[in-house]
Amino acid sequence: MRIRFVDLKRQLDNIRPEIESAFDQVMENTAFILGPAAREFEQSFAEFIGAGHCIGCGNGTDALVLALRAADIGPGDEVITTANTFVATSEAVRLVGAKPVFIDPDEGTYLMSAEKVEKAISADTRAVIPVHLYGQTVDMAPIMELARDHDIIVIEDAAQAHGAKNRGNRAGSFGDLACFSFYPGKNLGAYGDAGAILTSNPEFAEKLRLLRDHGAPDKYHHIVDAHNSRLDGLQAAVLNVKLRHLEKWNDSRRRIAAHYMEQLKDTPEVKLPGVEPFNEPVWHLFVVRVPHRDEIRELMNERGIDTGIHYPVALHEQPVYKDLGYAPEDFPIAHRNAPLLLSLPIFPEMTEEECSYVCDNLKEILEELT
Ligand SMILES: *Cc1c(COP(=O)(O)O)cnc(C)c1O
Repeated sequence: MRIRFVDLKRQLDNIRPEIESAFDQVMENTAFILGPAAREFEQSFAEFIGAGHCIGCGNGTDALVLALRAADIGPGDEVITTANTFVATSEAVRLVGAKPVFIDPDEGTYLMSAEKVEKAISADTRAVIPVHLYGQTVDMAPIMELARDHDIIVIEDAAQAHGAKNRGNRAGSFGDLACFSFYPGKNLGAYGDAGAILTSNPEFAEKLRLLRDHGAPDKYHHIVDAHNSRLDGLQAAVLNVKLRHLEKWNDSRRRIAAHYMEQLKDTPEVKLPGVEPFNEPVWHLFVVRVPHRDEIRELMNERGIDTGIHYPVALHEQPVYKDLGYAPEDFPIAHRNAPLLLSLPIFPEMTEEECSYVCDNLKEILEELT
């Protein structure tokens, strides 16, 4: 048995005819950049999330950069985000010339909390980027309230949370702006790079359409310093097909996650992910915390099970951010948990039998090691 971390081939086998006919249509129209497929996707994705506008772009990192630029964030500004996220979040902050300010995640859910954001606010704070990590939504109501009180822009990083809900509302519908990545392995993934920004503010929407396409409201007039980061037609066609399956796929992920929880609940060495009762995660990743993490990964690999680490080194300890002057213990939760994090395989087409195989082997290995 070989269990991949994510098996995109199995998914393709289920939707191949739909994908092929969507590709054909784009090719017939030769609408390779933006075009009808992209417009259709922008409209349906905005409706699905519950935001006024969706602006497609080249990838998730660009979505974050464009959102920051739309909000005029740049040199001299501070942007608060979490120490445990994918590097793209803070990378975007530096790309616009602003300074990332990290905070420690919550011990139970591993998400950002409003209390820690509040402590990190300074006179230079212009924005906060809550990251809906692993598919679970940050509790947004207290963060939005705090941001209103301090006149701070909120940009959700929803790259891991397509369809996730918090008190009935979807990730991407709370902030002033929200960013999605459609990297192939995400819950909603293209067959290449793609991304989008969502907003219900029409001024931001208009600005974003200019910023992603040479600052041009029409072909020959350039009215702002901009960039080229457009959604490509073939990727939009894939996303249109896959959006129709997303809720069903997210339900399957929830079934796999429930199976993991049930089978691992009596194994005290395995710390299971904490879920807030008002949250409905979409389980982009299923991350547990275990002792002897690296040995476990190696032994699981020998038994045919792929695993991942999200993320092995907290951002405040990454060489690229040495100039920010953080010490490892500045964020004790991120620092102490990084060596324990282990991501188990999860994808919608994974069977319960495969899930049980992962759990049985993990338990056996733990018994050998502890
Ligand atoms: C994937 C991801 C991104 C970046 O997306 P790309 O499309 O790869 O640029 C940003 N933030 C988080 C949390 C992600 O997981």
